[in-house]
Amino acid sequence: MEILTHVGGTPGKDCGGFCRFCYFKTVNFKDLDSVALGCKFCPPHQIGCSYCHELIREVKNGFKPPNEVLTQLIMNLEQLKNTQQEVHDLKINVGSWADVINYPHLHDLLAVFQKYEFPVNLGYTSGKGINGAETADDLVARGVTEVSFSVFSINPDLRREWMRDKTPEKSLEALQRFCELCEVNASTVVVPGVITEEEITKTCSILEEWGIKSFVLSRFSNHQNQGLLFNYKPVEDGIEPQPYQEFYELVGSIARQFSFRVLGSPAADPEKGLPYILARKGNKKYLEQLPAIKSETTIITSSLSAPFLEKIFQRIDGNGKVNILAVDKDIGDLIVPADLEAIDLKEVKFKAILPGGALLHDQVAHQLLTRDGKNRKVVRGPELLFLPSNVYLEGKEEEFITYEIRSFTELVNLINQN
Ligand code: SF4
Repeated sequence: MEILTHVGGTPGKDCGGFCRFCYFKTVNFKDLDSVALGCKFCPPHQIGCSYCHELIREVKNGFKPPNEVLTQLIMNLEQLKNTQQEVHDLKINVGSWADVINYPHLHDLLAVFQKYEFPVNLGYTSGKGINGAETADDLVARGVTEVSFSVFSINPDLRREWMRDKTPEKSLEALQRFCELCEVNASTVVVPGVITEEEITKTCSILEEWGIKSFVLSRFSNHQNQGLLFNYKPVEDGIEPQPYQEFYELVGSIARQFSFRVLGSPAADPEKGLPYILARKGNKKYLEQLPAIKSETTIITSSLSAPFLEKIFQRIDGNGKVNILAVDKDIGDLIVPADLEAIDLKEVKFKAILPGGALLHDQVAHQLLTRDGKNRKVVRGPELLFLPSNVYLEGKEEEFITYEIRSFTELVNLINQN
């Protein structure tokens, strides 16, 4: 089991300069303080609270001091203890918004973890700050047993051009050495016309020889509806990212060709039929465990989730009490007030359920969904309807099914509540 800790870091600044495809490249970091997001934790008459401000502060304020990192880790460990979950093979995942290898106190942190014999997963490195195989030797000697490495391509020229990697050969040499010494989760960003299926296949063929554990394809995002939150300009002009369905099929095609786990981000795990394992035809029988639907409700959700929810509700809602409304946003947690402004309120019933994590202040959401003068009840749905497979890489099918039965039961109970 992994426990997360985060060293912060500012993308572009703490990772050796911006990659051309980085989602943060066109963010105006100076303006971030004026962004008022709002979320479900905000007090009733205030937009913005420590939770949603923290989301901004983290990407803006660079690396955290080691004491802050360790204090947070201790709190996470305490929380884990309180859940009384059975914990075995505990590993510490050290994450960063930038590149964890650039964290100036990395060696100090690793020394602490080594003292308590915790193995370490380095949550994200681009490889740009690595001086060759010796860096991998050194980090593994300090207790690192797993690394998430953004390879982009095994072709050094593509790394040089798209990641602005000054020494791509050295970075790739280190990646190979990591593969020899520990577990490696590699990743790429699928930039249309650059990282093609042919290019991915070439990269994955080498990585298979080197023995990686998993490979993540991140869909390139260029617009706000695809996941950019703080950007007002595209990341790269003139590039149109793939629609989700096409991307899902690409992930499936790569997964069928290789022996390691292949996943996509946002949520795409075709090998396991995820996300929304309950939407699979063969899993209809599990839907019988959900409570019967008794009330009229509108579920407002992301464009990615809507088709899956429609499939599930067609099967469990014979009387058509629930309608699903997709906003023009691929990810539910990134739904903001502008997305609710675009909704045709004629489609919204007396009760509306919003994604649990949407970045909306409750009162703002209520105002926007009653602006036609009709009073409506606006409630928050479960935080996550499906288990993300990139976090539960080794999760078993039953675990994904059990989780979704639980989250959909919670959702139906909310629908039925007066
Ligand atoms: S290394 Fe990662 S965080 Fe840094 S610029 Fe590239 S994509 Fe962004």
